[in-house]
Amino acid sequence: MIKSIQLELKPSQAYDDILIRKIASRYSNCKESEISRIQYQKRSLDARNKKPRYILNLNVFIGEDPDLEPDIMLRYKDVSEAREVIIIGAGPAGYFAALEALEIGLKPIIFERGKDVRSRRRDLRAIQQLGIVDNNSNYCFGEGGAGTYSDGKLYTRSDKRGNVQKTLKIFVEHGAVNDILIDSHPHIGSDKLPKIIQAIRETILKFGGEINFNSKVTDLLLEDNKVIGVEVNNESLFFAKAVILATGHSSRDIYYLFNKKNIFIEDKPYAVGFRIEHPQELINEIQYGDDYSDVLPPAAYNLTAQVKSRGVFSFCMCPGGIIIPSVTNSKELVVNGMSMSARNAQFANSGIVSTVDKFDFSRFKSSGALSGLKFQENLERKFYTGLTDHALIAPAQNLLGFLFNDRLKLNKTSYIPGLIDSDIGILFPNDIASALKLGLQSFDKRLKGFVTAEANVIGLESRTSSPVRITRDKATLMHVQINGLFPAGEGAGYSGGIISSALDGQNSMRAAAEFLKVE
Ligand SMILES: Cc1cc2nc3c(=O)[nH]c(=O)nc-3n(C[C@H](O)[C@H](O)[C@H](O)COP(=O)(O)OP(=O)(O)OC[C@H]3O[C@@H](n4cnc5c(N)ncnc54)[C@H](O)[C@@H]3O)c2cc1C
Repeated sequence: MIKSIQLELKPSQAYDDILIRKIASRYSNCKESEISRIQYQKRSLDARNKKPRYILNLNVFIGEDPDLEPDIMLRYKDVSEAREVIIIGAGPAGYFAALEALEIGLKPIIFERGKDVRSRRRDLRAIQQLGIVDNNSNYCFGEGGAGTYSDGKLYTRSDKRGNVQKTLKIFVEHGAVNDILIDSHPHIGSDKLPKIIQAIRETILKFGGEINFNSKVTDLLLEDNKVIGVEVNNESLFFAKAVILATGHSSRDIYYLFNKKNIFIEDKPYAVGFRIEHPQELINEIQYGDDYSDVLPPAAYNLTAQVKSRGVFSFCMCPGGIIIPSVTNSKELVVNGMSMSARNAQFANSGIVSTVDKFDFSRFKSSGALSGLKFQENLERKFYTGLTDHALIAPAQNLLGFLFNDRLKLNKTSYIPGLIDSDIGILFPNDIASALKLGLQSFDKRLKGFVTAEANVIGLESRTSSPVRITRDKATLMHVQINGLFPAGEGAGYSGGIISSALDGQNSMRAAAEFLKVE
């Protein structure tokens, strides 16, 4: 017999397996000794009122064992002699497309402009410590893509786009903790992600896929309206009838290439703003109250406001995290957030961003589909300080100073290159600055104490999603103009985040397989 039950537990009880077994037997009207297994289904924290509770959904197996699902890896085939599909980019979309190819029986040939995940670390240190940016190896480019040295949040609202549980299970089969299968807001962390990415690489190679690092795709080879292959590093040519383009939202050279070749792309709305950084303790107190700050995980928040025609929202909130320079070129500044699995840094940071669209891009209208990209580049150059101490010192302002046009002392920060006190408001177009201000004031009504002199705003946050869409057909997922080309993931404008990009990569590989069948 299987009984499905829901328990409401105090924070101190939620991870106590022995106690949970006791409570489960009571709820299931059976003896503890009769329980053969307890399967945890979902664990979520409800901290909406000042008495936080964990809600735990369980299946209790009484006198029988559950049918355990076999590993997804068992479905992979040896593809060393199979038909080839080129994948450009080894981020979540590219790697999960490759794993899907192993399941289908196609051979993925991956080209990645950056280095393998370990070698990438040296270049991240050079960015952090010296301000030196390698434009093929940085926080966005390299094995694992932008998702590797990130916060590693795996929460997604895209569950209609594919099998989220399967994707999480693949992470677990490559070394992630089982908890991500049940937590309502799963998280991995940047100390664990590189090993998982490396294990995924080993699986792809073991089953006969190919991965080429330091291999930047510099051109698409086209014949009439078909893709027939790619040019790599301006010299070598590789041929295949299907190409998955999963280059992420920062691969500007791809957008410029498409524009130059008159391949259809469109500008698309995204969001810009800054990172806000508070002491984590303060966010814990606001969210949980004094009594619970010590027994609950570092608190997060998720805020939205409508300011006239603009949406203002918190983006990619990192509890217990740090702010990093996620630049891909020198002479630009863009920041983002990352965290370790323990989320034990002393700061909470989040993007606070305002939507931008054609109205904002109109100054760059002559750039056509690239007008949103030009708007983004222009802002990133404005925020670049290029100071001699460290080129990536970021413009920042005390939060109250930003809101009330005052100069107040900057607070301590996690941002390693350092901050320079600046008038952040004047670096943005006026209406964006005032939307951000009004948005923040409205957030303070929801989270009392959010607006405080203890916080800084640090610019610029501008890579919230792609400024360009590489448009594809809804049914075939193929580019609207080029046969055999499958734009996938965040860079194509069809996903945002690790899981939704992974799902999009899987779907694109399925679509490529359909195309190769009929082709
Ligand atoms: C600092 C940071 C923190 C983040 N935190 C989170 C988080 O906690 N949770 C979350 O869900 N999302 C997070 N994100 C967003 C998430 O990382 C992206 O949504 C996701 O990685 C997009 O996946 P993708 O495969 O589409 O593209 P990407 O991950 O951007 O991968 C694209 C890959 O293509 C390669 N490439 C680009 N151009 C070429 C070329 N011409 N030739 C060959 N290779 C090329 C790049 O080097 C890169 O490896 C974060 C992003 C950053 C930067």
